[in-house]
Formats: sequence, structure tokens, C-alpha cells
Amino acid sequence: MSSVTLEHVHKRFGTAKGVEDVHIHIESGEFFTFLGPSGCGKTTTLRMIAGFYYPSAGQIRFGNQEVTSVPPHKRNTGMVFQNYALFPHMTVFENIAFGLQVRSVSKAETKERVERMMKLVRLEGYGDRRIDQLSGGQQQRVALARALVIEPQILLLDEPLSNLDAKLREETRFEIKRLQLELGITTIYVTHDQAEAMSMSDRIMVMQSGEVQQIGTPHEIYHRPVNRFVASFIGETNLWDATVVGIEGDEVQVRISSGQVLRGHKQNASPQAKLAAGEKVTLSIRPESVQESPAAEGVNTVTGSVVLAEFTGACVNYVTQVGDEQLRSMSINLGRQVKQRGDTIGLHIPKESIYFAG
Ligand code: ATP
Repeated sequence: MSSVTLEHVHKRFGTAKGVEDVHIHIESGEFFTFLGPSGCGKTTTLRMIAGFYYPSAGQIRFGNQEVTSVPPHKRNTGMVFQNYALFPHMTVFENIAFGLQVRSVSKAETKERVERMMKLVRLEGYGDRRIDQLSGGQQQRVALARALVIEPQILLLDEPLSNLDAKLREETRFEIKRLQLELGITTIYVTHDQAEAMSMSDRIMVMQSGEVQQIGTPHEIYHRPVNRFVASFIGETNLWDATVVGIEGDEVQVRISSGQVLRGHKQNASPQAKLAAGEKVTLSIRPESVQESPAAEGVNTVTGSVVLAEFTGACVNYVTQVGDEQLRSMSINLGRQVKQRGDTIGLHIPKESIYFAG
């Protein structure tokens, strides 16, 4: 298996920006995800790693080997495309065997390797089926087997689950993760789905408009987003404007639009946040950290009027008007009576769950 390094890689399409200054080192055996909204440059970056596009500037290395302008078939990468790109009139066996035939592998070895792959992706006994006789999930697994049979150093997956329904998507994401762990293969995964990225990846690169916003573990990206974009793209959050009114030791005091002062920890801040008296900051508060408080006062307890109440059984979700801002909360149902629209509610925002996002 191989590490992958992109050194200050840029891609321009004529005058249009594709991606700008991607600088990453993906460890051998790592599951690394490019995440971002449509058009942010994920596929372009993946295609440069596969060799379908050459960078306008910068260098790409697999281990110590420079591959920046090496053609795709000489890179030893396996790729799964969004639409799988299988040959519909060929059988499962023929589809998986394709890459081996191109490489002139003997018949006996091809048979052995294809059968091993069919077992790995749980398609034993399907060798003679035509692709158009398979379900979407089965086709997806053929595409995976076809990519893996050539024993690539690096597996590249471009939105491989987007054609599957929600339930199958969830099952298949565990399946892909299982295979990746079993084979220990360096895997680069492209998706716009944050839940997919969070649940599968060792690290995630969040992109927007061709630029890298943040690189980190799922935990870092979720709990320590570097800016508003990352905070709101990953999971749900409340983004509130506030003004710093004081700092005492590790405690930062901020005034929110209702006039109330909240307290947070200084170390819970992105490098972009200016924590000095008088500065404007953005607070990121995750809904699951806000809990209903029976007492309507106390440190970091805010009161407001319920705008929306939703009872899901396990949880009670509220949207509450607090000053000029709304606060989404997701409380575990402790059997209390559910508040209704217009009711006054007290909500506690723990000090450690206030993040200064910039
Ligand atoms: P999606 O999730 O929709 O596939 P993406 O994040 O993968 O989006 P890219 O396909 O990498 O985004 O596109 C990044 C930018 O580069 C976009 O603005 C896109 O229009 C542009 N782009 C991509 N390929 C080409 C091309 N062949 N010619 C011109 N512009 C391109």
C-alpha cells in the first residue's frame, strides 16, 4: 500500500478555477475523504490522483514515486465511479476479470483471483449473471470487486453510494469500511454526504469553491470547525453573533443579542476567532448539547419562547426564540411534559459546548 502526497496542486480549466492549492499527505492504509458541496472540486482532485486530469501546477506522489504526469493505466489505482461504469451485457465474472485480461494475466490465475474477489464482496455464485440482472447494491459490489481485483496500491471511490436507496447506502458503507480494514488499502473517498464521511473516514478534507477549508479527524471537524462554513456543513449547529465583553483566566464572556452574558472556555476557539474585549465572534452551539433546564436562571441558562416543538419519542426538539436569534435544541426525553409553541422555556448551554467559530 502506498501513501499519497499532493504538493500545492492547482487545476484550472481555461480561465475557470477547478481546485486551488491542495496540499495533503494521505498515510498508507488511511481512509481519507474529500467532502464538500457540489462543484467544490472533490472529483477534480480525485481525477488528478487517478491520472484522468493533469494538474496545472504542483506535484503528486505515491510513496516516493512522482506520478504527476503518469497516465492512469500506469498508476496502479483502482477506481469506482458514481455510475459504476460496468459493461451491462457482460457477466459479473467478465466484468471483474476485465482488468486482469488487459494485463494479460493467465486464465487460471484470473479465475482464482476473480473468485476470491466475488467471495470478498459476497457475490459467490453470481459469476454467470449479467449486470442488468443485478440489483443496484449488487452492481455496486461488482464495481468494487473490479477495482480491487488488480490489487491496486490505492482505491479511489467517487460517490460510490449515491445510486443506492437510504437503507442500502447505510449497509454498503459498513461493507466498504469492512473491506478497507480487511485489505488495509489506502482509500480516497469522495462524497457530499457528511454522515457518510463522518462514519467511515480516518480523516476528512472539507472543500468549498475549489479551496480546502479544513483537514482533520471526524472528531476535530465536528468539534473544532475552523470557520462558519465547516461548522454549518458538518452536522447541525446554531451560529450566533456575539460580542466579547471580558476574559478572566480561561473563561471568555460574550454578550448575545438578548443582552445576556454567556461564558465559554478560551481553548474552545478556532484560530480565526478574535477573543478580545469588544471583538465580534460567531458562536457555534450544537443542538444536542443544549438541554432543557427546569430552572429558568443560572449560569448559561437562557430563556425564550418556543417557536417549534417536535416530539420524536427518544428526543424532544425545540426551536426557541432567544433575543434576535433562534436556538435549536435536541434534548433526550426525560418524561417531562413537552412544551408548546408560545410557551416560555429555560435552556442550558454548557460552558464547554460553546465553540468560538470565528
Ligand atoms: P460534484 O459533487 O457535483 O461532482 P465536485 O465537488 O466533484 O462536484 P468538480 O467536478 O471537481 O466538483 O468541479 C470543480 C469545479 O471545476 C466546478 O466549478 C466545475 O464546473 C469545474 N470543472 C470540473 N471539470 C471541468 C471541466 N472538464 N471543464 C471545465 N470545468 C470543469
